[in-house]
Amino acid sequence: MEKIEVLLEAFPYIKKFSGCTFVVKYGGAAMEEEGLRKEFARDVALLKYVGVNPVIVHGGGPQIERMLARLNIPTRFVDGLRVTDEETLEIVEMVLSGAINKAIVQAIHNAGGQAIGLSGKDGKLITAEKTKGKDIGFVGDVVRVNAKILKDISNSGHIPVVAPLAAGADGATYNVNADTAAGSIAKALRAEKLVLLTDVPGVLDADLKPISSMTGREARILAKSDAVRGGMIPKITCCLDALHGGVKKTHIIDGRVAHALLLEVFTDLGIGTQIAGE
Ligand code: ADP
Ligand code: MG
Repeated sequence: MEKIEVLLEAFPYIKKFSGCTFVVKYGGAAMEEEGLRKEFARDVALLKYVGVNPVIVHGGGPQIERMLARLNIPTRFVDGLRVTDEETLEIVEMVLSGAINKAIVQAIHNAGGQAIGLSGKDGKLITAEKTKGKDIGFVGDVVRVNAKILKDISNSGHIPVVAPLAAGADGATYNVNADTAAGSIAKALRAEKLVLLTDVPGVLDADLKPISSMTGREARILAKSDAVRGGMIPKITCCLDALHGGVKKTHIIDGRVAHALLLEVFTDLGIGTQIAGE
């Protein structure tokens, strides 16, 4: 009986989301831990089978750091921000576009889906310009997204998996923040949902209690308060930006929970924080 209830609960969501696009930022524990990795790949393959078009954008900070350490490449920081010089960029691209991207593609294949991996440089999917302000090297801000490439891949039955690198108008390669890249892609695709997987139970309020749902206005106020710091700032900012750009709902969810993605989209309660509406 329990099983049938789960299926019945999911049914209206499947019906509602069939044909829609979900952009998912994949990172953190869900990408590092073997079991979670398999479950994520299965969730993504399943979404595709029920008619959703998932688009995956992945991070890779910890993996890049490990490779830099292995190669004894020293890291320079400016005001706490890693400087991506030419040598570092070479490793960033190797790790993101080579190792991680292909591992995700393979995991989705092993889970029964069909994926195509590409970086933002391929087909000029993402064009970027050097981030203004303090010089932290080859780090860019998204200028344009060529959504057609992703639509073509999705329409051919494949799941696009995007590494957050971008082509510069100046001919250089830029590393872009994966959350921001996912947000820009979600806007360009007019996605139904932008889902950011992370390693906390959602956005926490000043009392460290996870917030299950916020409007854009509430999120803007919270983002300006002391309750939100570090990596959560670009996440909330990019959710707000995505909502402003026509994305219907945004979610910041706990990737450490098995099948977090399916739980968020196919159950009444969901998990993590939803930001939607004004
Ligand atoms: P990711 O690798 O998923 O991008 P980040 O470390 O960049 O993760 O961002 C998430 C981190 O933001 C959390 O681990 C937490 O330390 C920090 N953070 C700051 N403020 C908040 C908040 N209000 N709610 C949740 N996390 C927060
Ligand atoms: Mg981050």
